[in-house]
Amino acid sequence: MLEYKTKAIRAEQAQLKSPARGLLYTLGLLQRIQTGKRAVVTAIVAGPHMETSLHWEGRAFDLRSKHLSDDDKQAFAQIARFVVGIFGGKVLLESAGTPNEHFHIQV
Ligand SMILES: [Zn+2]
Repeated sequence: MLEYKTKAIRAEQAQLKSPARGLLYTLGLLQRIQTGKRAVVTAIVAGPHMETSLHWEGRAFDLRSKHLSDDDKQAFAQIARFVVGIFGGKVLLESAGTPNEHFHIQV
């Protein structure tokens, strides 16, 4: 149910800690059910992240948003926030409206 922007990003999923890894698969499934589109993982560990980012610890991942309609983005953000919130994490739509827009999930 998931696609990965690069093979390197696919390999990094092994570095995701619990519950981030389980949430990655869960959100991929939910996005597919909800929008009919596959979730695309655009970053896990590597990337230009802030020094304090949870990406470096395997506790965050990014999902593409630009392939979704505005309605689907909102609907997905709502269900993602509900599910990730159960574990005390959060979901942000970062760089909204720019070419770098993406969902950032951390937990
Ligand atoms: Zn991120």
